[in-house]
Amino acid sequence: DLQLSSRVQAIKPSPTLAVTNKAAELRAAGQDIIGLGAGEPDFDTPDHIKEAAIEAIKAGQTKYTAVDGTPALKKAIIAKYKRDNDLEYEANQILVSSGGKQSFFNLALATLNKGDEAIIPAPYWVSYPDMVLVAEGKPVIIETGPETRFKITPEQLESAITDRTRLFVINSPSNPSGMAYTLEELKAIGEVLKKHPQVMIATDDMYEPILWTGAAFCNILNATPELYDRTFVLNGVSKAYSMTGWRIGYAAGPAKIIGAMKKIQSQSTSNPSSISQAAATAALDGPQDCVKEMVTAFKERHDYLVKALNELPGVECLVGDGTFYVFPSFQGAIDADSAVGNDVEFAEKLLKDAGVALVPGSAFGSPGHMRLSFATSMKNLKEAISRLQKALG
Ligand code: PLP
Repeated sequence: DLQLSSRVQAIKPSPTLAVTNKAAELRAAGQDIIGLGAGEPDFDTPDHIKEAAIEAIKAGQTKYTAVDGTPALKKAIIAKYKRDNDLEYEANQILVSSGGKQSFFNLALATLNKGDEAIIPAPYWVSYPDMVLVAEGKPVIIETGPETRFKITPEQLESAITDRTRLFVINSPSNPSGMAYTLEELKAIGEVLKKHPQVMIATDDMYEPILWTGAAFCNILNATPELYDRTFVLNGVSKAYSMTGWRIGYAAGPAKIIGAMKKIQSQSTSNPSSISQAAATAALDGPQDCVKEMVTAFKERHDYLVKALNELPGVECLVGDGTFYVFPSFQGAIDADSAVGNDVEFAEKLLKDAGVALVPGSAFGSPGHMRLSFATSMKNLKEAISRLQKALG
């Protein structure tokens, strides 16, 4: 019998990828499925970014690069942090990785010992708890709901912190809730963190530009600059520039830990693709109107979807701040259906009977909800709503 490590047995495959795969399977079998499970923009990568990659290939940039990223990309990242976030970094404080997922994976492996606690607010991006588990850390989940717009309170954070807490993760705007913390809310959270120097902070800013609150984007460091020496700012080009397949994410933070993350990466994947790095450099240094165009489309779809969802029986949906997700409660609809007991069964039923693929809230630590991605055409969204109307009767 082939032995599996306890490490791999402690984790599960990504549930969002699983829904996308299941929908693809049913589609391949001839069923008409509308997928609202996708975690990626439906737009093509902008042409000037593709051109930069083609140029890089022609110029022979097809070899290993420095493990932590090409000098050109690191320079573009440092300029981006300065320009957009008013944050100063040196080159040894930056690590480029194969996607934002690897940035967080490196961070968990570099900072957590067995049993160390990582505080993760729910609903959370599905991968945080499992990556903490791979690092043999202990995910400590703080639950939130619609009454606080799915955001934690300073009191909740205070009571979750122990002597074993090493990491606190904050993702704003949030996958899956679509909510963003205000500067005041971040300041209040920062006050709590100031009292606990043993806690490092990871702010996952992956959805930074996909925001329509009218207020400027801000993260915990903008609110509480005193946390600079123990905060990691994670970002990437995947969502902002519709570059999920290129696999480029990046992290900035204290040089000591960034160096340790680089060491881990040097012994696992080495540098991210040289060609993708050239494309990411063009994305960060180039014109930004492509981002604005995508955000305008997302906002229009968001507005349609929130209104339409709230007209469905047993569904309640808050107006979101950004991203391309909404996270309505389906609890009323689940309770009204005697054939299903929870959100997972309800999502399966909607996939089978209505041909609509959604991700159940349980996957994000918030049962009773569903995540709907609106990274799809308005036509698909309208069809999905009409199918849900029929299914919910
Ligand atoms: N962080 C959040 C909150 C995400 O939703 C995602 C992708 O779904 C990532 C990080 C990772 O992005 P990638 O590894 O595709 O760059």
